[in-house]
Amino acid sequence: MNAPAFQKCINPDCGKTYDIAEVHPGCPACGELLDVAYDWDKAELPKRFADLRVDKTAGPLDYSGVWRFRKLLPFAKEGTQVTIGEGRTLFRAAPKVAEYVGLKPGRLYLQYEGMNPSGSFKDNGMAGAFTHAKLVGAKVAACASTGNTSASLAAFASATGIMEAVVFIGSGKIAMGKLSQALEYGARTFEIEGDFDDAMARVLEVSARAGIYLVNSVNPFRLEGQKTIMYRILAGLGGEPPDWVVCPGGNLGNSSSFGKAFGELKDLGLIDRVPRLAVINATGARTLSRVVNEEGFRWNGGRYDRPRMDAFFRDLKDKAHTIASAIEINRPVNLSKCLRALDITDGVARDCPDTDILDAKAVVGTEGVGCEPASAASVAGLKKLVEEGVVDRDARVACVLTGHLLKAPEATIGYHAQDGSLEEKYGITDGRFPNGPVPVPNDIDRILDAVKEND
Ligand SMILES: *Cc1c(COP(=O)(O)O)cnc(C)c1O
Ligand SMILES: [Zn+2]
Repeated sequence: MNAPAFQKCINPDCGKTYDIAEVHPGCPACGELLDVAYDWDKAELPKRFADLRVDKTAGPLDYSGVWRFRKLLPFAKEGTQVTIGEGRTLFRAAPKVAEYVGLKPGRLYLQYEGMNPSGSFKDNGMAGAFTHAKLVGAKVAACASTGNTSASLAAFASATGIMEAVVFIGSGKIAMGKLSQALEYGARTFEIEGDFDDAMARVLEVSARAGIYLVNSVNPFRLEGQKTIMYRILAGLGGEPPDWVVCPGGNLGNSSSFGKAFGELKDLGLIDRVPRLAVINATGARTLSRVVNEEGFRWNGGRYDRPRMDAFFRDLKDKAHTIASAIEINRPVNLSKCLRALDITDGVARDCPDTDILDAKAVVGTEGVGCEPASAASVAGLKKLVEEGVVDRDARVACVLTGHLLKAPEATIGYHAQDGSLEEKYGITDGRFPNGPVPVPNDIDRILDAVKEND
């Protein structure tokens, strides 16, 4: 049986609850974010996470890497969950990355979300959002996107026919692979003059005025789907939590969902210990890092200093700028939930320059699981945290690789070919691991010489 589910405001001084069938981008009473909450007393759960056995071949819901854990996100009636085969991802040890970041051999794992149907972790969340949208009978969905949310929305819309897709992107801000997907899968795509933060502000207005279902990560049902990324890491480690989980931070939905996932598992007694979470910004979009490390904001039981936070964003003039376009965001909508996640997990926030991110990305590539720039922020951030002595060399760490290499070929080629294309726009000149194509005349002796040269 399902545990009764409802929506609940995360502000303890409000705490209003709403029916699962209502659609709100935030709390109508106070404007804070909403959670999906459960009356877990009524749930049928095993004693330990490790006992949550699933037969991945039992049917479409167990084939899904999201819905095979549906007992832990029980907001939909059995059989009504929407899936396009998301969440069948790879969890594996990565010895070369371990060495690069300075961890002992065998201590570093990659959670590779590039294997999702649309090539990023967003599909986990979209499965949750589409399931809720079906429940409320929504017909049109919209998002603002740096690219991957729009690719995921477009894929789910065309594959399921449940909703039509409308996407808003910042002009000239989207990686080629991602734009290709939105166009090819038939989403109505609008390029708004401006960046992601501008598009996000507009899509909130548009969805409210036009009654369109919003699938950005302010949607709490999306975050329910993304909790399963952590369940798959736990499953990969036989139910034993790692010491650290490291992920990139953009709009901060993913990190928020990870904190919620571990908080719930701990409260339910399914795990004994919560991993520490490290959320990594790019230096050119480092709002979380600033807010936590310089401004000193803390969750404080949900009573973080809201007036001071509002003032911070009122005064924030900087535009986000980084080659890690998926995290090129300066006004993260889930900031408050991320503060909560850092509180639950005794977590930290850091930021890394683009050059470090691309170097880390190249090292990930040597493991044969290529990722896009934003994903590699997790590895670059981990290296920094090991150097700082915050993460012990002995610690067991899982880095979340959020998106596929092929999403942003222009970044990869610019880095390896060292053709100057990254210099003008991002100031990136000196990658440590370039592997560019070598021009050779069409002459057999010269070709043989060239091949032998680097033996
Ligand atoms: C969306 C995205 C992120 C950022 O995730 P948030 O939940 O917005 O913090 C990071 N990497 C990739 C590849 C993404 O698509
Ligand atoms: Zn409220």
